[in-house]
Amino acid sequence: MKHVDFAVIGGSYAGLSAALQLARARRQVLVVDAGVRRNRCVDEAGETSHGFLTQDGRAPAEIAAVAKQQLLAYGTVQWMEGLADEAHVAADGRLAFRVGETTVSAGRLILATGVRDELPPVPGLAERWGRSVFHCPYCHGHEMNAGPIGIVASSPLAQHHGLMLADWGTPTLFLNGAFAPDNDELAALQRRGTRVETTPIDRIEGHADVLLKDGRRLVMNGLFAQPRTHLASPIAQQLGCALEEGPTGPFIRVDPGQATSVTHVFACGDAARAAGNVTLAVADGAMAAFGAHRSTMF
Ligand code: FAD
Ligand code: MG
Repeated sequence: MKHVDFAVIGGSYAGLSAALQLARARRQVLVVDAGVRRNRCVDEAGETSHGFLTQDGRAPAEIAAVAKQQLLAYGTVQWMEGLADEAHVAADGRLAFRVGETTVSAGRLILATGVRDELPPVPGLAERWGRSVFHCPYCHGHEMNAGPIGIVASSPLAQHHGLMLADWGTPTLFLNGAFAPDNDELAALQRRGTRVETTPIDRIEGHADVLLKDGRRLVMNGLFAQPRTHLASPIAQQLGCALEEGPTGPFIRVDPGQATSVTHVFACGDAARAAGNVTLAVADGAMAAFGAHRSTMF
């Protein structure tokens, strides 16, 4: 049994940020990480991350690696590679979980476990995720070079993409049988100059070519989809943390200090907000650390 004051599960942007604040407060902190970041597909595609101050246009893996290196320079940080599981509130009120053969008992627990994306089953879409298929206009809209942008509908959020992306280029909204805008919505799309395509998609080819069922090929600079998100880890449910339903999927409910509904359990990053990015994950991580630290004093 390993006893620690603070444990952070998830060692990506949110978890690294939380651990850094605790390390700087001279607290003992254990970080457990399985190494499966949400944006790893961007690295695999040789693409870069955008919008995070001082790191715009840098590879996601590099941003995480520099943060980890700076964190591990603090003597009170321990890092464990592996998947945390079987979390529960122990009889003594501490938070217990397993990593392989090791049982960990923590006084305070910060969940920074992220989410996993489920893309619509359009042939050729998943292979291009992080390369020419994205979900966040602020992260990747600028790289569309103000040209043709395809929106592959999989939920009513496609309407939102259809209205937004007109600021980043000339959008075509491919309804693909997944979403039917009403007359008001169609009028709003038209006002924004967004084309609506009702012919279903057969497959995606090349960089971001949309092949329709009627044989037409529409060449796009990139595509936007609305993946369904799932909590990447069942740890929050194992502990009994209350969840909320966001527009793309469930996330862990937190208060403004990032405390969950379970005493001494905090959460941050994509796992604990309706929609996230690196900047927000880092901010939430810092706040979770402040909340967890403060809870030991008062
Ligand atoms: P993650 O980065 O997903 O990390 C979660 C970590 O927790 C992982 O290392 C995982 O292995 C670990 N973990 C999970 N469960 C366990 C467990 N049980 N035990 C141990 N470890 C566990 N954001 C931007 O700001 N700019 C961009 O350009 C950008 N581009 C993106 C492009 C794509 C295609 C995608 C999908 C996302 C992009 N994002 C971008 C969003 C960004 O990836 C996320 O907001 C960010 O990764 C959230 O950080 P996080 O620390 O909350 O979670
Ligand atoms: Mg918050």
